[in-house]
Amino acid sequence: MTRTDEFDRSITYGEAALTYLKGNRTPAYPRNYELWYIYAAGFNRELNKAVNDALKRLGHLPEDLTERFYDEFLSPVRLSDRVGEVSARVSKELDEIVEMLEASSETCHQYGQSLRTAASGLGSTENKQQTRSIIEKILRATTEMEARNTSLESQLKDSKGQITDLQESLEAIRYESLTDQLTGLANRKHFDQSLERAVDIAMRRGEPVSLAMCDIDHFKQFNDTFGHQTGDQVLRLVGAAIRSAVKGRDIASRYGGEEFAVILPSTALDAAVYVGEDIRTAVMAKELIKRSTGESLGRITMSVGIATLRHNDTRDSLVERADMALYASKRNGRNRVTSESDLSDEPHKSAVA
Ligand code: GH3
Ligand code: MG
Ligand code: MG
Repeated sequence: MTRTDEFDRSITYGEAALTYLKGNRTPAYPRNYELWYIYAAGFNRELNKAVNDALKRLGHLPEDLTERFYDEFLSPVRLSDRVGEVSARVSKELDEIVEMLEASSETCHQYGQSLRTAASGLGSTENKQQTRSIIEKILRATTEMEARNTSLESQLKDSKGQITDLQESLEAIRYESLTDQLTGLANRKHFDQSLERAVDIAMRRGEPVSLAMCDIDHFKQFNDTFGHQTGDQVLRLVGAAIRSAVKGRDIASRYGGEEFAVILPSTALDAAVYVGEDIRTAVMAKELIKRSTGESLGRITMSVGIATLRHNDTRDSLVERADMALYASKRNGRNRVTSESDLSDEPHKSAVA
């Protein structure tokens, strides 16, 4: 493809992206533009399928779906591109180091040769003058060797610096791939991996591990009244409240949408209920103020369910019990913490109906 073709094509995609943004009434922020550009170009079949399904179902692409599709279909591609880029740089750096070491071993070899030649020359010298010239040769070879060593040392130092930078880039990429973009908490993938590990450790050490599942109360109504943008601000705020209520080794995550899950290692059921209460009150303590107008939007409440690992549990059965406790909180009026031990005391639905 010539540069002109490439220019024409990219402008066509760009214009189509703007038309989609306008038709959909989506702000042309870079991420939104990127999503519609890629849609117009048809580069990512999975994205196009998801967008087409949503358009068929809803007639437009709401902002929460735009964000979800970006995270689901475009962020991973970007991350894997970045991982690819870093590994290419690591392998280039390693090639250079190997080359340097090979050159240095060649220099050492030559230096050895010069010393050997000089030594045999010294054995057959007849006068001071000859001895002096041989020693001068040795000195020159040694000075050259020293200079090469100094340069090798500085090249290796430079490579070490580059590799440290690359390690930091990889760490940043790893962190990003495990973090929820909106709240900065652990994402679902991080939660799944961490719970697996926490269950393993608890089983091996015979220690407790508890799980708190949390769901914002009446959030749909909140979104419908104040809009998704404000809803997202609230999710950020709730994320911060949860983070403030838990300690270092606990893992707070966004489980999905407006649900959060907190893994509490080495924590028995009773203690976990206290943490659940702390989370619930921390969320409720925040008064929501609309940034643009300063208007108060009241307070948000959250329901929580707590379960603790049993010896025959799996990751999924633990989540299931914490979820059952969460739903009991919802049934019993919301804005409360229910422990799995309360479930058996609950009257059956038929008994209260
Ligand atoms: P309940 O008290 O029973 O939990 O009521 P609810 O309205 O919160 O019910 P549910 O948990 O089923 O509602 C989920 C709603 O949360 C749907 C959607 O409006 C909102 N939501 C889910 N994910 C997001 C998100 O990422 N951003 C925003 N703004 N809203 C979300
Ligand atoms: Mg929910
Ligand atoms: Mg909810």
